[in-house]
Amino acid sequence: MADGMIDVASRLTEVRSRIERACAASGRSTRTVQLVAVSKFFSSEAIAAAASAGQRDFGENYVQEALAKMGRADQTAGRRLRWHFIGPVQSNKTSAIAACFDWVHGVERLKIAQRLSAQRPDELPPLNVCVQVNVSGEASKSGCQPDQAQALCAAVARLPRLRLRGLMCIPEADTASVRPAFAGLRALLEDIRARALASTYRDDFDTLSMGMSADFELAIAEGATLVRVGSAIFGPRPTSQLLHTANPNQR
Ligand SMILES: *Cc1c(COP(=O)(O)O)cnc(C)c1O
Repeated sequence: MADGMIDVASRLTEVRSRIERACAASGRSTRTVQLVAVSKFFSSEAIAAAASAGQRDFGENYVQEALAKMGRADQTAGRRLRWHFIGPVQSNKTSAIAACFDWVHGVERLKIAQRLSAQRPDELPPLNVCVQVNVSGEASKSGCQPDQAQALCAAVARLPRLRLRGLMCIPEADTASVRPAFAGLRALLEDIRARALASTYRDDFDTLSMGMSADFELAIAEGATLVRVGSAIFGPRPTSQLLHTANPNQR
C-alpha cells in the first residue's frame, strides 16, 4: 500500500475518534453524527483509500471534477459510494448534480431546488437536500437569510423529487463567531420544525450539516448531525483544482 493511503486511513481513524470524543463530551451517541469526507482536489485513489478504511460518504464541490473521479472511485472501492454535492449550485449544473449525487447541501434559492427536482432521474430515489443558511451575516455571501429559511424550506419540502433533510451553514472559520453561528443554525432548525404544521416536513428533516476540519468538534457540541471534513482526512489540499482537472487520466 502506498504511503499516502496509509496516511488517509490513519487520519480517518483519528478523525473518527475525535468525533467520538466530541460526542461523548456532549452526551451524544456517535451514531448521531455522520462523517462526510470532503475529497475535492484529491484523486480517486485517495477516495478509494478512505473507502477501504470504511468511509462511505464523500463530499465534492465542483461538478466536472467530481464526475471525472466518481466512476473510478466507486469501481476501486467495489461498491457504490454516497456522494454529497457541497459547493455552490449553479443553474447550468443542476442536471448533472441531480443525476449523479445523493445529497445536495447548498440549496439557497427555490429556483435551484425546482430545477433539481425536475431533473432528478425517475429511476433514482428523491434527492436529499439541505437548505443553506447564511448565519454569519455580512461575513458570508452564500446561503439564504435566516428570516427566509422558513419559507424556502416549506417550498422545497413540497417538491416531489427532493427530500428535504435539514439545514447547512459555512460560517467563517477560526473566528469567535463560529460557535454562535452553529448554535444559531440549530435554533433555526428547531424553530422551523416547531412552527410547521405536522404535515409539512418528514421526520427526517433533522440534519444539521455544519463543521469542517477546523471546527467540527465545536459543531458537534452545538448539535451537528453531519460534519464535512476534508484536510483532516486527506491532508493539506493542493491549492488549485486545476492540478486535478488538468490531469486527463482521471476517468
Ligand atoms: C472544502 C469544504 C469542506 C472541508 O474543508 P476542510 O477545512 O478541508 O475540512 C467542508 N465544507 C465545505 C462546504 C467545503 O467547501
